[in-house]
Amino acid sequence: MKNVKCLKCISCGREYEALPDATTCECGGILDVIYDYDYIRENFTPDDISSSDNYTMWRYRPFLPVEEDTVQPPLRVGWSPLYEEPRMAEKLGIRKFWLKDDGLNPTASLKDRASSMGVAKAIEAGYDTIACSSTGNAASSLAGNAAAAGLKTYIFVPERAPIGKVAQLLIFGATVVSVKGNYEETFELSKAAIDEYGWYNRNAAINCYLMEGKKTVALEIAEQLGWKVPDYVALSVGDGCTIGGVWKGFKDLYNAGFTDKLPKIISVQSVNTCPINRAARTGEPWEPMEENTLADSISVGVPRNPDKAINAIIESGGIPVEVTDDEILEAMRVTGRECGVFGEPAGVTGMAGLSKLCREGKIPADASVVAIVTGNGLKDTANGIKAAGEPIKLEPDIEKFRAVYEELNK
Ligand SMILES: *Cc1c(COP(=O)(O)O)cnc(C)c1O
Ligand SMILES: [Zn+2]
Repeated sequence: MKNVKCLKCISCGREYEALPDATTCECGGILDVIYDYDYIRENFTPDDISSSDNYTMWRYRPFLPVEEDTVQPPLRVGWSPLYEEPRMAEKLGIRKFWLKDDGLNPTASLKDRASSMGVAKAIEAGYDTIACSSTGNAASSLAGNAAAAGLKTYIFVPERAPIGKVAQLLIFGATVVSVKGNYEETFELSKAAIDEYGWYNRNAAINCYLMEGKKTVALEIAEQLGWKVPDYVALSVGDGCTIGGVWKGFKDLYNAGFTDKLPKIISVQSVNTCPINRAARTGEPWEPMEENTLADSISVGVPRNPDKAINAIIESGGIPVEVTDDEILEAMRVTGRECGVFGEPAGVTGMAGLSKLCREGKIPADASVVAIVTGNGLKDTANGIKAAGEPIKLEPDIEKFRAVYEELNK
C-alpha cells in the first residue's frame, strides 16, 4: 500500500506493519492507520475523485488502506444522499442545514461502510469466516456484505436487539448467537470465541481498518459540498468508532490539501448512557455507565473506542450534548415530517442533539451544519409507532370519515 505508512498505537506509539489481519497493540492499545499524505497529495487531486464513475465508498481508494488489487465487495455501499433542508435550517435558526441519509445503505445503516472494508480486508488476508459482536447494525451489515462476497459469518448480539435487525441476520444466513446478557457481555463472548476459532475479527475497536471505512461518510460530505467543509457535523455516539472515523476523514482531506478547513464535531449521546461525553466534558477518564436508552445502537455503557471518540470532540473544538429518549422520539417525528427521512432512534439522535443545541442558542446563526442519519427506521418499527402514534381506526363508512375530517379541519 503506497498510501499507508504503518499502523500506530494510540496509547504507546509503537508502530506495526499494516498487515490485513492486524488487531490491537501488544500493550492493548488501539491502532490507527497512518497515511503518507505527501504521496496522496502528489498523486491524486479532488478532480480525480470527482470524475470517478464508481458511486460507492470505494471511489475514495487513495484514502483507503487497501492494496491496488484488493477486490471491492459486491454490495453498493456509500454515496448516500446529502439533502439540503432550507425549511429545517429556518426552524433551527441556522444559515445552512443538510441531512446525510446513511440509512440508505444496502443493509440500512452507516455500518455498511465498516463492513465493506472488513470484508475486503478479510479476503485480502485469506480468511473464509468473519465474526463480530454488535448492538445490531454492525452485525446485520456484516452478515449482508459477507453473504454477497461468499464469506461465512458468526454473529453475537445482545438479546435486546430489535427484531428487524435479527431478521436481517437470519435472512443473510449468518450463524446468530443471541446472548442472554448486555452488550458488554456479548462483546466479551465474541472475543473469546474469535480467539478460540481464529475467525477474521470485525469488532470495530479491535480491527483498525473498519474506522477507515466509516470515515468515507466524511469524505462524501466534503465532496458533495464541492470539497467544502461545514462548520459543524452532528452524529450519535455509542462505541465511538463512527465519530472517530468522521473526524479522521475530515483530517485526511485537510492533511492531503483537498480541503482548507475542519468542522467542529457534535457528539450526541443519551442522558442515561453517555460515558464518552462525560469524559470529554470533564477531562476525567471515562467511567462505565448503565445501558439505558431506547436508542439501542448507542446503548453502550462500556465504549470500545473511547479515546479516538473523546479526541474527536476535543481536538475539533466540538460539543458533547445529551438527549432524553423523548427528545429522540421527537427527532424521529421531525426528521420524518420535515425531511421525509425515517431514522431509527440512534439514527436521528444526532438531529436531536443539534435541535437541543440550537434551542439553547449554542450554535451561531450563520453556521452551516450537517446531521448524519446513521440508520433506517424500518429496522425498529416499534419505536417508530411509539414516536408517531397510531393511525385513525374507522369502519368503511364515508359518513364516519366525514365526521373525522371535520374534526381534523376545525
Ligand atoms: C453503531 C451505530 C451508531 C454509533 O456508532 P459507534 O461507532 O458505536 O459510536 C449510531 N447509530 C447507529 C444507527 C448505529 O448503528
Ligand atoms: Zn501500544
